[in-house]
Amino acid sequence: MKVLILPGDGIGPEIVAQAKKVLEVLKKDGLDLELQEAPLGGAAYDQYGSPYPEFTQNLARAADAILLGAVGGPQYDKLDRPLRPERGLLAIRKDLNLFANLRPAILYPELANASTLKPEVVSGLDILIVRELTGDIYFGQPRGIRTNEAGEREGFNTMLYAESEIRRIGHVAFQAAQKRGKKLCSVDKANVLETTEFWKEIMTDLAKEYPDVELSHMLVDNAAMQLVKAPKQFDVVVTGNIFGDILSDEASMLTGSIGMLPSASLDVNNKGLYEPSHGSAPDIAGKDVANPLATILSVAMMLRYTFNNEAAAQRVENAVKKVLADGLRTADIYEEGTTKVSCSAMGAAVVAAM
Ligand code: NAD
Repeated sequence: MKVLILPGDGIGPEIVAQAKKVLEVLKKDGLDLELQEAPLGGAAYDQYGSPYPEFTQNLARAADAILLGAVGGPQYDKLDRPLRPERGLLAIRKDLNLFANLRPAILYPELANASTLKPEVVSGLDILIVRELTGDIYFGQPRGIRTNEAGEREGFNTMLYAESEIRRIGHVAFQAAQKRGKKLCSVDKANVLETTEFWKEIMTDLAKEYPDVELSHMLVDNAAMQLVKAPKQFDVVVTGNIFGDILSDEASMLTGSIGMLPSASLDVNNKGLYEPSHGSAPDIAGKDVANPLATILSVAMMLRYTFNNEAAAQRVENAVKKVLADGLRTADIYEEGTTKVSCSAMGAAVVAAM
């Protein structure tokens, strides 16, 4: 199994170094892993003059899974748009056809105070948002700004989903639900938008192939309310690109600790790009204070979704739970009565707990 590591920019190299230690333990214990490394984003621009150079493209296409730190930094803000680090991220997602974005929002009981919601509402929260990433109103044609027949300027976009696009994201979501609490909530706006009425019809049809998963439907406005009112009612949520963009950010903020949240973007064969949900945090880069747990938990997602190795995924997740239960905290999740540790010390503690 070929894993390509893309440290990226800012805190990327620091947090990825900790996740790499975890991969090395798994390798030593018998997992057949081949680790490679390449630059992406600003680091790739510095070395090759492009945020997603051919060197990285070739390794990314040949890899089974990819682990990314984060990209971006103020030193690149003045570059022409096509050369900016973020373009590297968009380019690799597009190049590898990563259409399914999986973002868990998990709140470990030890960190319940980090949330702005009452601890009893969020403690033990464990939701997975499955967002379609390559279709919907973000990509539908025609689109633009024009002058209409009455001579007034207007902006317009097209919300559009082909049946095959809905089916493939539906399969990812049902299969993810099978690996978890077996409950799937499909979010739509079927009362107003035909595109999502069609979405609902296809999800209902797909449910026949997954009799062990309980499918429900919810309107997006209600879903936004329910996420803050009673978030623990959800197991897996599946939705289109635009609703998923908003709901996944809302769900991640329920936890209050961005440094804890992993993510996965998958193609149709479960090849995946795994990365923390946060950015490159230039304000704390190079200080060995970043939280590496989101990146380490991204490795657990890789083991679960690309390598289908639930035991190894749980081994990594249990090690993270153990260090939190032992009271170890990086600065972003520190509170009185716990022990503040550096990024590298947190990585070492997870490895020891494994
Ligand atoms: P950010 O997520 O990098 O940082 C927001 C805040 O959270 C900062 O105060 C930062 O110190 C803190 N933070 C983030 N990750 C942390 C961690 N692991 N441990 C402790 N604290 C952490 O978002 P931003 O400041 O808006 O963006 C900074 C750069 O990152 C920009 O160049 C942006 O384009 C880029 N970015 C990249 C990605 C990505 O690579 N996927 C995503 C978002 C932003």
